[in-house]
Formats: sequence, structure tokens, C-alpha cells
Amino acid sequence: MILNQVNFSKYPDQLVPAIIQDATTKNVLMLGYMNQEALKKTIDLKQVTFFSRSKQRLWTKGEESGNYLHLKDLKLDCDQDALLIQVTPSGPTCHKGTDTCWAEANTANFGFLTELEQTITERKTASKKSHQSENLPKSYVTSLFNEGINKIAQKVGEEAVEVVIEAKDENDELFLNESADLLFHYLILLQAKGFKLADVVQVLNNRRKSN
Ligand code: AMP
Ligand code: ZN
Ligand code: ZN
Ligand code: ZN
Repeated sequence: MILNQVNFSKYPDQLVPAIIQDATTKNVLMLGYMNQEALKKTIDLKQVTFFSRSKQRLWTKGEESGNYLHLKDLKLDCDQDALLIQVTPSGPTCHKGTDTCWAEANTANFGFLTELEQTITERKTASKKSHQSENLPKSYVTSLFNEGINKIAQKVGEEAVEVVIEAKDENDELFLNESADLLFHYLILLQAKGFKLADVVQVLNNRRKSN
């Protein structure tokens, strides 16, 4: 039982820090403190409950705002003095209205794909400026943005057909190369339409049967 494993007595006020993480996006949402009673209530209620140091009482996050944190998983750290609590939030976690208490510092991260999206954003910005300054370096992505959405969508269609063709073949290298072309042009199309990968991932995530 996790209740008995936590080293509450390590802290003079018996309050253990609890890092709250979104179970899906892995964003860190907020930090709170729990005594044993708060942890017990969190487990029983399946809704994150802290001991509020300002209110000096148990505080179920969302009790006024309705933005509860539904318990998904609970982990103790290496020396049993800190909690990592994975949740599904039912609204913005920060009382200032943002999803997390660290706002922009903490957005969805798809590793290298996020870096690539950032580069594409820069090329898109450059495409808007290139009418004024002709001396910017030539960029394939910038020129695609200049040609417009229809042209970019057409490229996605062409790359998709190439993937279909290579899927029938035995040549793995060609298949992977065409897959990369498709993904790359698809990321460009998303941004041409004003979206990012995270928007599509969110749609997929919303389709999941809640478990
Ligand atoms: P709530 O628990 O969301 O109903 O909010 C009740 C009150 O708790 C708010 O008015 C804030 O004073 C405080 N509060 C809510 N969320 C946070 C947070 N993420 N960090 C710090 N204080 C919060
Ligand atoms: Zn520790
Ligand atoms: Zn906050
Ligand atoms: Zn191709």
C-alpha cells in the first residue's frame, strides 16, 4: 500500500511534494503538497486532493472551478519522499486559465518532429517577407508556401501515391524514403492550413475510448 510507503516524517510539516503530470501529453501541470490524509483522499476519491498551505485544510483541486484532476497513476520516487501523479485534467489546471502552471514553457513535444515543425514555421514566416527582401537564401519550403495551399496539398497527394507504389514493392529503403517525403509535406500542409501535429494528435486522442 503506497500510503504506508511514503516518508511523510522526512518533512517537519509532514507535507510531501506532489508533481502533477498529464497522463496523455506528459506535460507537468502543477505542484502541490500532500499529507497522508490528502493522499488517502486522492486515492479514495480518484481526484487529486492536496493539503493547501494557504487554506490550512484539505483542498480537492477543482472544488470551486470544476477543473478536477482525475487520478490515473501514482508513483513514488527513488527515496519515497516525492510523488509523481499522472492525471486526466477536466479543464485548465492553472487558476490563471492556462492548461499548466508553466504555460508556454511546457507544450506538446514530439522530439525531432517538433524541431522540424519549428524550422517549417521559420520558412513560412520567411515566405511572407520574401516579397520585400529578395536577398534571403533560397528555401524549398519557403517557395512551397509562396505557391500556396493547393500546390502543397497536391504535393502531399503525389507523395502519398509514391508511398502506395513503394508499399507494393520489396524495397524497404524506397518505402521509407517516400514515407519521409509524405510526412514532411504533410507537416507543411498542416502549417499552411494554420495547424500543427499536436492538433491532429488531440483529435486522435479524443477518439480514444476512455479507459
Ligand atoms: P480550484 O481548486 O480549481 O477550484 O481553485 C480554487 C482556488 O485554489 C483558486 O481560486 C486558487 O486560489 C487556488 N488554485 C487553483 N488552482 C491552482 C494552481 N494550479 N496553483 C495554485 N493555486 C491554485
Ligand atoms: Zn526523493
Ligand atoms: Zn498556476
Ligand atoms: Zn517522394
